[in-house]
Amino acid sequence: MSGVSRRKILGRAAAGSMALGLPAIVRAQAASARVVVVGGGFGGATAARYLKMRAPQVQVTLVEPVQRFYTCPFSNLYLAGLRDWDSIGHGFDTLRTAGIEIVHAQAVDVDASRREITLSTGHKLPWDRLVLSPGVDMRWNALQGYDEAAAEMAPHAWKAGAQTRLLRRQMEAMENGGTFVMVIPDNPFRCPPGPYERAAMVAHYFKHHKPRSKILLLDAKDNFSKKALFQQGWKALYGDMIEWVGLADDGQVVRVYAKALEVETNFGRVLKAAVLNVIPPQKAGWIAERAGVTDASGWVPVKAESFETRRVPGIYALGDATIAAPMPKSAFAANTQGKMAAAAIAAELTGQPLPAASYANTCYSLIGPGYGISVAGVYRAEQGQMAEIPHSGGVSPLDANAAFRAAEARYGAAWYAAISADVWGA
Ligand SMILES: Cc1cc2nc3c(=O)[nH]c(=O)nc-3n(C[C@H](O)[C@H](O)[C@H](O)COP(=O)(O)OP(=O)(O)OC[C@H]3O[C@@H](n4cnc5c(N)ncnc54)[C@H](O)[C@@H]3O)c2cc1C
Repeated sequence: MSGVSRRKILGRAAAGSMALGLPAIVRAQAASARVVVVGGGFGGATAARYLKMRAPQVQVTLVEPVQRFYTCPFSNLYLAGLRDWDSIGHGFDTLRTAGIEIVHAQAVDVDASRREITLSTGHKLPWDRLVLSPGVDMRWNALQGYDEAAAEMAPHAWKAGAQTRLLRRQMEAMENGGTFVMVIPDNPFRCPPGPYERAAMVAHYFKHHKPRSKILLLDAKDNFSKKALFQQGWKALYGDMIEWVGLADDGQVVRVYAKALEVETNFGRVLKAAVLNVIPPQKAGWIAERAGVTDASGWVPVKAESFETRRVPGIYALGDATIAAPMPKSAFAANTQGKMAAAAIAAELTGQPLPAASYANTCYSLIGPGYGISVAGVYRAEQGQMAEIPHSGGVSPLDANAAFRAAEARYGAAWYAAISADVWGA
């Protein structure tokens, strides 16, 4: 559906709710309601934008420290040299023009009883509903020896920004014939197919610039998203350049020696890297814990029908920070969750019934230019839990021909353009 026709429909829906003759008190409450959204990434910017479309009378404030958001999606293509850095950055002007107040600051505290957040500037913002979409934080030292200082030598590059650019510079500086070692965590973590797409994109770069080099993937699990498709694609495009070692074959890394660029596996093997990319275990962005909405797992339990948190009424959480399995932690998932939460909040503030919840996800991965694969799923809330609708999705066929893979590569590029326009307007 085009942005214009969607806006028309939403406009009609909003007008319809007025025509239904809502009690004056409900209309007055909605008009003065304040919704604060923390995080201007995929989940937060979507929720802010769609809430303002659905309920223009609600005051929406988006709190995001950065002026320009760089996306993790397609950051692997930047590593490969297939995308330039500027092409994965997005600003907030479209949201501002839509009437959303943008505050470039960090939320540093949440007082749920006073319904107030404190910003890094010292200002306080009151809210009637709070939406948190802070993404992930690394669990420093969950992997022995891997802390913030270690990440400056052995980057994770699992948040797009300085870390991604550091990893690319290290790849450029690496000698032809070196080994790029990637450490991959157990589930759950941001973007289940991401490490394996990254392996392919690094291989693409090496194939053209350092063809004697190797990529060694040390994985804390035996299975991963689109495994057979990735392994087939790696072999077809890069021969033996990529070696994957799973848990059963001593792939789990238990200690990182960042200065020496070495890692130690569970059975005591010490392996040396020329470039070391450590993707550590993760948890919800720390502000979620500060708000009191996380559980012992470090992630946020939510109601599947609205993404309101289970722990604190009035606070919603979206995206990677949440426990939404079987939905993966993906940008597409965060985007549909943002729309659903916006609809739920608008309904609540205007005294309408909660709309039926449904969600979708497709993750495209690029293995090489003109060679794409995907996984898709459709989900709904069933008795408060997230459930995948049977036979709604699946993965690309293993026996697809070159034209099919080329089409999926094109769909992936189109997906990126479409979601960027949907979330930030460009
Ligand atoms: C290498 C890689 C490739 C990927 N590729 C894909 C892909 O192809 N397709 C796909 O669907 N997904 C992909 N993903 C996953 C995708 O990036 C995440 O799932 C998505 O960004 C989650 O959205 P979010 O809103 O939860 O978090 P984010 O998009 O990370 O947004 C979080 C925002 O919150 C802000 N923030 C955090 N704390 C605060 C605070 N205290 N105050 C104010 N603001 C705060 C941050 O600055 C950030 O802007 C990929 C991830 C990686 C690492």
